[in-house]
This record gives sequence, structure tokens and C-alpha cells, in this order.
Amino acid sequence: MKTAVVTGGASGIGLGIARRLRSNGFHVASLDLNPPADDDFAYRADVTEPEQIAEALTAIRGKLGPVTVLVNAAGVDGFKRFQNISFEEWQRVIDVNLNGVFHCVHAVLPDMLAAGWGRIVNISSSSTHSGQPFMTHYVSAKSAVNGLTKALALELGPSGITVNAVPPGFIDTPMLRKNEEARRLGGTVEDHIQRTPVRRVGTPEDIAAACAFLISEEAGYITGQILGVNGGRNT
Ligand code: NAP
Repeated sequence: MKTAVVTGGASGIGLGIARRLRSNGFHVASLDLNPPADDDFAYRADVTEPEQIAEALTAIRGKLGPVTVLVNAAGVDGFKRFQNISFEEWQRVIDVNLNGVFHCVHAVLPDMLAAGWGRIVNISSSSTHSGQPFMTHYVSAKSAVNGLTKALALELGPSGITVNAVPPGFIDTPMLRKNEEARRLGGTVEDHIQRTPVRRVGTPEDIAAACAFLISEEAGYITGQILGVNGGRNT
């Protein structure tokens, strides 16, 4: 049985991915800031803190064995006019969304290299296709994640490891509902559904399905790709 780590696995998209991989027969551990106390496979780690990641991974390896699948879903957004973003706010968004991916890949890569097999999926954002006002820090970080995905795929291909990104668009999670409530979406979720070609909001399961495919054995010839899952909002 292969072992997968999903960052941000306690909520929204990460939770959907963790559930799907579990039902596909993987051991799944999640890394979160606030893991649920009743989940034996949820570990506390801030993805910006390499020591916390290392500590969690030691525990995960001890319980579930080497980690050969990594899904980077932990993320934070931010909405502010560019001139009002402080450098600290800028750095925190870059730190979680981009540097968190760096730290987590570094932490699991030795297991994948030793196995001669691995799957890395990075959850970026559809805002990298279109841009998004008031989210320059977030769009910059997520665009860099797409770049990292492409470059790392070329490096790790010869070692049997694929690296792909899934940029979600408009997925019904606590993050989306929080932004609807704060009136940051330029309308309600229902308004947006009318502007979405497939006429519905996306679900964590939609993203999980794409991840499950990219992680599967049959996706071994797919690497360095950015697979948009957005109901046709971005083509
Ligand atoms: P969510 O429900 O807020 O889940 C994000 C998860 O990441 C939470 O469990 C959160 O923990 C965790 N997290 C945040 N900072 C962390 C840190 N420093 N270390 C470890 N864990 C951390 O959001 P979501 O909508 O599922 O988003 C998942 C991913 O998809 C994110 O990368 C997001 O940018 C991306 N995305 C989402 C959408 C969408 O429409 N929902 C669109 C584009 C991209 P806490 O709750 O404890 O803070």
C-alpha cells in the first residue's frame, strides 16, 4: 500500500483529496495548522516551518512507511489593493503557498528517490490563468507554483517521479464561502454559477478526481502539466 501526504488535508479541497485517495487504497496522512483531534492520520505542521514538517514526517514514516505521493493543497489567500499590501502580508502569502511547497517536496523527496517512483501534485489556482485584482501576492505565489511544477518535472522525470499542477477554479469550500460572505467575489456563488459554462460550482471531489488520475499508475506519461479544473471558466 502506498503512502500519501496531503497538506491542508483537514479542510475543503485537501480533505476531498485525502478521502478520495483513501478510498483508492492509499494510506493517507494530512498536514495542517489545526488538525482534527479525532483523526489519527492528521498531523500538525505549518508548511512554512521545515522542522515541524520533518517532525510530522518522522511520525508518518514510523506509522505508514515511506511517502511516495505528495499533494500540496495547503494555502491561504488574501484580498487587498496592491499598494495596501504590507511586505509582511506579501511574504506570508508567498511563504505558505510557494515556500510551503518547496519545504514539503524537500521533505518527501528522499523517499521517492529511494523508491524510484513518486507522484507530486500541486494545487495552484485558476487565477494564474486570468489574473485577479486585489490578489497580486496570491496570484504571484500560485503562478510560481505552476513554474516550479514544470521545472521540477523535468528534473525528476528520469527518477520515476511525476510532478503536475491542478489549478482549481470556483470550488465550494470554506475559503470560497468566506470570500462570498466578505463580498469579495463580485457577486454571490449563485451569480457565478450562471457565468460558469457547466452551470454549477465545483466540488472538492472534482479536484480530487483529477488528482487521483494524476497519481494513478496509468498517468505515468503525464508530467509537467497544468490541468485546469474550473467548469470551463478558464480555457
Ligand atoms: P480551505 O478550506 O481554507 O483549506 C485550506 C487548508 O490549508 C486548511 O486546512 C488550512 O488550515 C490549511 N493551511 C493554511 N495555511 C497552512 C499552513 N501554513 N500550514 C499547514 N496548513 C495550512 O481552502 P480550499 O478552498 O480547500 O483551498 C485548498 C487549496 O486550493 C489552496 O491552496 C487554495 O489556494 C486552492 N484554491 C482554492 C480555490 C477554491 O475555489 N476554493 C480556488 C483556487 C485555488 P486552517 O484552516 O487550520 O488554517
